[in-house]
Amino acid sequence: MQPLFTEIDLLAIDRAHAWHPYSSPYSTEPLYSVHAAQGCELELTDGRRLIDGMASWWCAIHGYNHPQLNQAVHAQLDHMAHVMFGGLTHAPAMQLVQTLVALTPEPLQRVFLCDTGSVAVEVAIKMALQFWVAQKRAEKCRLLTIRGGYHGDTFNAMSVCDPVTGMHRLFSRVLPQQIFAPAPRCRFGASCQPEDIAPLAQLLAQHQHELAAVILEPIVQGAGGMRFYSAEYLAQVRTLCDQFDVLLIADEIATGFGRTGRLFACEHADIAPDLMTVGKALTGGYLTLAATLTTERVAHTIAAGDPGVFMHGPTFMGNPLACAVANASIALLLADDWQANIRRIEQRLRDGLAACSHQPNVADVRVLGAIGVVELTEPVMLRDIQPRFVELGVWIRPFGRLVYLMPPYIISDAQLNQLCAAVRQVIGNHHNETHSIDPP
Ligand SMILES: *Cc1c(COP(=O)(O)O)cnc(C)c1O
Repeated sequence: MQPLFTEIDLLAIDRAHAWHPYSSPYSTEPLYSVHAAQGCELELTDGRRLIDGMASWWCAIHGYNHPQLNQAVHAQLDHMAHVMFGGLTHAPAMQLVQTLVALTPEPLQRVFLCDTGSVAVEVAIKMALQFWVAQKRAEKCRLLTIRGGYHGDTFNAMSVCDPVTGMHRLFSRVLPQQIFAPAPRCRFGASCQPEDIAPLAQLLAQHQHELAAVILEPIVQGAGGMRFYSAEYLAQVRTLCDQFDVLLIADEIATGFGRTGRLFACEHADIAPDLMTVGKALTGGYLTLAATLTTERVAHTIAAGDPGVFMHGPTFMGNPLACAVANASIALLLADDWQANIRRIEQRLRDGLAACSHQPNVADVRVLGAIGVVELTEPVMLRDIQPRFVELGVWIRPFGRLVYLMPPYIISDAQLNQLCAAVRQVIGNHHNETHSIDPP
């Protein structure tokens, strides 16, 4: 088959007409044309193959072009690609709903399917607000969160992202003003001291009358800074929410489906939130799908209030193709001893990245589950650093001061070693060049 475009055409059209995530339309940053993807490798149009260290932003947990996931989409396609979810139901969605209820903490019994993570967060926030309106406590309409979070790009989701990294000032006239506690200082694995939780406890006490919910990413703060915090902190947040009559929303969009070593990160603290959002790895990276789960208590309260219905309903709600591939992806994950596999990746990342901590330009190295983070002292210049990774045959996309790996779970030891070696090498060179060490 003749390719539709040459690589030159593709890049030219892109430069002329496309817009990429968080970028200027006139960006001159490096851009690569990808032709296919297989297993843990991206295949560029020029024939180069890159080992994927990003799992396409947490999603592609089983790698690319997986025969069982392909099969699930094909089989569903022969039945129906899509039908509306108003007044109709179908097997792929019901299988998914049942599975999500079974896998998540016990009180979560109701599932609202939606298209993207940001929408799942909007839905969780709307449910929390309607929960209080239904009880004639409409003044409980604000949110409390912790600094360093990321919850998506739509307006209410943005309002609870870190105000600095989330660029709140651009939208400050229209964003709801939420309440921010400092990011937890107690690291994962450490205990949480009274002074660690005190600022959040104080804000809860002070604002309880106007708070609908606390929203946070359990254990791992992803795109807002890749920080891992103490499970005891999370457990105490749960207790405080109960004490002050505020709902807890756990945003598991990045952490869900095994990434942190537990199926959901809430399990590290053995807590159940009132609302939970999932997305990203839900379909193994095949199609866009997310979900908001909640308890019978929240669902029943909303249904018993005015107007008795939940006011949300995306056009592509419960898309059968997406649900079918989600079912296949979850089945694939659970068919294996996935926990042992995550421990294997965790150990390799620890061994492979440890040497980075000796570099003078490195502030911190941390690993949890299948996530490895090297935090630098200075932000990287993507323009310089991206081509180096590509030359070394890996796809790693740092942001700010963070160089991080979150590979597909099917990654081999040899591929992991190559990813870690590339990080060590690029960070080492980066330091030498930026500090222009003169040759002897
Ligand atoms: C990615 C992400 C979102 C937003 O999901 P989209 O599908 O990009 O809208 C929300 N919350 C967290 C924790 C995320 O990592």
